[in-house]
Parts: sequence; structure tokens; C-alpha cells
Amino acid sequence: MPFFDFHTHHSQGFQSIYNLSEHESNIQGGYFSAGIHPWNLTKNWEVAFEKIQEISENPNCLAVGETGFDRIWGPDISLQKKAFHAHAQLAYRLQIPLILHLVKGHDLLIEYLKTEVRVPRIIWHGYNLKSHLAKQTLDFPVYFSFGKVLTQADSNAAQWLQECPKDRIFLESDDSDLRIDSIYREASLILQLSEEELSQQLIKNWNHLSSRKIS
Ligand SMILES: [Zn+2]
Repeated sequence: MPFFDFHTHHSQGFQSIYNLSEHESNIQGGYFSAGIHPWNLTKNWEVAFEKIQEISENPNCLAVGETGFDRIWGPDISLQKKAFHAHAQLAYRLQIPLILHLVKGHDLLIEYLKTEVRVPRIIWHGYNLKSHLAKQTLDFPVYFSFGKVLTQADSNAAQWLQECPKDRIFLESDDSDLRIDSIYREASLILQLSEEELSQQLIKNWNHLSSRKIS
């Protein structure tokens, strides 16, 4: 059985969530996610977002995103905030998770969590910060997805994976050329769980948090 890949830019398949690239709407039957990455936001983002809203009605659209905050590569923060809120409302309405891209914007996430009433389930993808920053979000519906950085010795990601509640974990290949199997192997060593147990846990995690289930 193939392992569930929460977030990939590479392949469409029935055990992975393929992130549609910008202007891509040709869905070939697998699971996917749709959103406007902070790097791709322009002044006309609302027009592009209408298209995202349409695509997200497809039951194979399992998540909204990537969206989030990026103080290094993203445009003006006020623009990023508007776009993030629109994506978050969409995810909340559909009761599917949001894929969070976060670079030097931890404070913006905390501000959002503390002020917004209708917070969707948020999966923080490519997590690789210190554990205490993740812990600050545990009172909220925030989940964590870990990728290829787990293969590096003593990463922050590996540290947090060890401490993180098991029902908050996902794994992803993202845009790396590592196969998802290698990431499961690393994670299973860190967690002292078999790859099979881990796989079942992550599918259970997904089906618990989303209105759109995977089988
Ligand atoms: Zn990605």
C-alpha cells in the first residue's frame, strides 16, 4: 500500500495530495489542494481566488492552500493577511484543512489564532522550527507536516516530531526529490513506530479532521 503523502508538488495519485500549480485546473482524478501561494499573490489575487473557490467545490479537493505568511519572499503583509483570511474562511466553510506556508511569520499566525473565531484546521507544512514555537499553537486546531528535513541529523523538525502529539502529525514529500517512503522510514525511526503503524495513524489523523476523507 502506498504511503499517504499530505503535500506534494510532483505526482497525482490516490494516496497523495497534489498541490495544483498556479493556473493549473486540469485535474486528473487524484486528490489535490488548491490555493494561491504567498509568493504568487498579486494585486489581482481576488480574481485568481474566485477560480480557487470554484475548483475547491470538487470533492477531490482535500485542502485549501498553500497560503500563509512569508516575510522574506512574499508581498506586502497586509495583502498576505487578506489572502490568508479568504483562504481560511473557504477552508472553514468546506470543513477541510488549510495548508500553511510560514516563513518568519509565527507572530502573525498567533495573532490570527487569538483573534479569529472561525479557525479551520490548519496544517503547518514543512515544519522545522524549535519545539516551543509549535507548543504555543497546541490550544488551537494546528497540525504539523514534516518533510525531507527529517533526514538531516538533529533537525528542529525531528525534535518536534518526537514531542508532538501523535494525532497532530502528517508527512510530506513537498517539492523534494525524495520519495515519501524515505520520509516514512525516517519518521518511523524517530517515533519508534513501524511504517505500517505510522501510515495507519496518519490516515486516521486525516479522517478525523476533514469532511473529505481518504480511504
Ligand atoms: Zn509545497
